[in-house]
Amino acid sequence: VRTGVRRPGCPLCEGFGGELIARDDRLRVVLIDEPLHPGFLRVIWHDHVAEMGELSRAERDHVMAVVFETEAVLRTVLSPDKINLASLGNAVPHLHWHVIARWHDDAQFPASVWSVAADRDPQVGLARSRAVRERLSELRAYCRSRLLGLGLSEFR
Ligand SMILES: [Zn+2]
Repeated sequence: VRTGVRRPGCPLCEGFGGELIARDDRLRVVLIDEPLHPGFLRVIWHDHVAEMGELSRAERDHVMAVVFETEAVLRTVLSPDKINLASLGNAVPHLHWHVIARWHDDAQFPASVWSVAADRDPQVGLARSRAVRERLSELRAYCRSRLLGLGLSEFR
């Protein structure tokens, strides 16, 4: 029985894990405050589950529907060069998907956002980050409206 499983000391059990955009009874979508990569959403399964394969088929389908919706949101609002989808869970074995807008001139491209900075003028990556940050209000509002269309709610 998995429902309601929470683990003390797990940051994704004890908090939202970012700025809450929308949620339902199974998962939530949060906006991540990552200075160099502000176009960063995360889809987090509420219960403490480590692997996608532990979910039922219907649950997996729901997670992926929300992941693809957030991808569409980032593409529509930010027109990035690439979207990175990642489910690692190595640091926190609590199922979540990173949905990250990427640009050729962001701080780490083409490496992952967790890699060391690319070998170029750091001001370029900072300028990209500032430009993205100016769209965050629009991103929040549009993301919320699209997720409400999937049956999520904006209420905590
Ligand atoms: Zn957890």
